[in-house]
Amino acid sequence: MKEIGARHFEERLARGAEQAREAGLDGLLISPGPDLAYFADYLPPSTERITLLVVPARGEPAMLVPVLEHDSAAATRAAGSIQLLDWSDGQDEYEPAAALVKPDGRYAVSDNTWALHLLALQERLPGTRFEPVTRVLPMLRAVKTPDEIDRLAAAGAAADAAFEDVLRLPFAGRTEAAIAAELDRLLREHGHSQVDFTIVASGPNGANPHHDAGSRLIEEGDTVVLDFGGIMDGYGSDTTRTVHVGEPSDAEREVFDVVQHAQQAAFEAVAVGVPCQEIDRVARNVIAEAGYGEFFIHRVGHGIGMTTHEPPYLVAGEERAIEAGMCFSIEPGIYLPGRFGVRIEDIVVAAEDGAHRLNNSSRELHLVQ
Ligand code: ZN
Ligand code: ZN
Ligand code: ZN
Repeated sequence: MKEIGARHFEERLARGAEQAREAGLDGLLISPGPDLAYFADYLPPSTERITLLVVPARGEPAMLVPVLEHDSAAATRAAGSIQLLDWSDGQDEYEPAAALVKPDGRYAVSDNTWALHLLALQERLPGTRFEPVTRVLPMLRAVKTPDEIDRLAAAGAAADAAFEDVLRLPFAGRTEAAIAAELDRLLREHGHSQVDFTIVASGPNGANPHHDAGSRLIEEGDTVVLDFGGIMDGYGSDTTRTVHVGEPSDAEREVFDVVQHAQQAAFEAVAVGVPCQEIDRVARNVIAEAGYGEFFIHRVGHGIGMTTHEPPYLVAGEERAIEAGMCFSIEPGIYLPGRFGVRIEDIVVAAEDGAHRLNNSSRELHLVQ
């Protein structure tokens, strides 16, 4: 796989400045977290000591860091593209931070910026407008480069391999938590450095889309929703498959087929230029026409990149268009309270010729033991 080198960070910084200009902003204020990793190749802890990257719409990017973290910040692949400034304990750190920001400007701020820091900046800069980046520039990191897509594809393939391994394990008589622990282990065995979630929702628990794997014993006749993912080589995986312990009932198979058709229809609807909300509508129509509309209780998808949930959101009201290089999930589901749930989720990448799946394990209803 190709290195993501210094040049990539220079390009990201330039593109970030360009997007800020196009949105009429004076710049981006980037805090520790995925935005900072993306623009500065830097992932320090998010703490009470301020670290702030300022990407001005016009001018050179600068990053203020605590002096004790200076050497780490100077060692990144992006260091050559960013002017590094530091501050010391005992100093008023918000003075040098505010000096990087226009007093009457308008800035997009990383969503996960600590209130402690942002409120201090607001006090010092009462004429400046601060807006959350996902509101003003939601697509800042949404279009992936070929190198990023390679990493997402590798993470997807690893998650698929973990799923294929888990199918060989016995389910009946074991707890959801035990299967979740197996998924965690398998994701790491296949190269993940971090596991973000391992949902194992059996029988009636499947009706809760975000059910946490618990102490319920999985038994013969259960439908089991498995939704798992994490981070591998800096990029995310997120896939869902639904399995059944032993032979499914006709009702279970019918619901499964509806979800499978909805997922396929949504996949086929992906095209460059189509509004994100259209993909949600297509999946929802299939499910509604089959009579289960009220049981599909979440949006059909979300973007994925350096985090497992990020823009674009494929949801009613999101009128922005799909662009080539956007990567997102397609994950319709039906949740029948007190009975069971079914969800099927793949990560896909939008391209000029339509969508390509980054998850390729079988989407059929798998029978497990
Ligand atoms: Zn059953
Ligand atoms: Zn998922
Ligand atoms: Zn998802």
